[in-house]
Amino acid sequence: MKFKTFNVLPEFGTNTYLVWDETSKEAAIIDPAAPSQRMIDEIKEMEINLKYLISTHGHGDHIGGNKMINDNFDVKNCIHKEDADSLTDPNKNLSNFWGSKIIAPKADIILNDGDELTLGTEKLKIIHTPGHSRGGICILTGNLLFCGDTLFADGIGRTDLPGGDYSTLINSIKSRLFILDGNIKVLPGHGPETTIEDEKAGNPFVGMMAR
Ligand SMILES: [Zn+2]
Ligand SMILES: [Zn+2]
Repeated sequence: MKFKTFNVLPEFGTNTYLVWDETSKEAAIIDPAAPSQRMIDEIKEMEINLKYLISTHGHGDHIGGNKMINDNFDVKNCIHKEDADSLTDPNKNLSNFWGSKIIAPKADIILNDGDELTLGTEKLKIIHTPGHSRGGICILTGNLLFCGDTLFADGIGRTDLPGGDYSTLINSIKSRLFILDGNIKVLPGHGPETTIEDEKAGNPFVGMMAR
C-alpha cells in the first residue's frame, strides 16, 4: 500500500492521508480536514479510484473537507457508529465553538470494531480505540496504522472534550495498539509519524517511561 500526506488545515496541523493499492488503483482518503482545490486536483491527476472517505473520528478539524470530496468523487463515507452523529451536527463535531459550523455528508457505512474495508486485494482493518472520542478508530493496513487523535509521537489525544476519557484512552492504546508489531508505522492525526516500538519505549503518557 502507498500513502501520501496532505496538510490542508495548517491552523490545526491536521494530517490528511490518501492511501491506495498500486495494483487496483483503489484508494481511500482519511480525514480530509478542509476543502482544498489543490488536493482535489492532485487526486484527479493520480488517476486512482477513490472508493472510501474514512473519518478516524467526528471532530471538525478532521471532517471539514468531507463535503468537497463528496462533491468531486463517488465515495462511501465511513465512520464508527459512536461518532456518526458528529458528521452532521456542528455542536457534536465542535466546529460551532470556532464558528465554522461544519456539516459533512452523513455516513454511508457505519463502522464497528473488527470491520474490514478492501482496496483491491488489500484490507483496511478497523480498530475501535475510544478515549479521545467515543467513536475513535485506527485503521491498520499492512505495516501502516492511521491512528487519528488516539496516539501521537510522544503524545496522546486530548481527553477533556465531550466523550473523552483518560483511562479509556490509555487502555485503548495499551490493549489495542501496543500489542501490534513494533515495526508498524504510526501515522497520527497531527504531527510527525512514529512507530509502535518507539511509542512503547518512549511515549511519556503510556510507554515504559510512564511507569
Ligand atoms: Zn479530535
Ligand atoms: Zn484532531
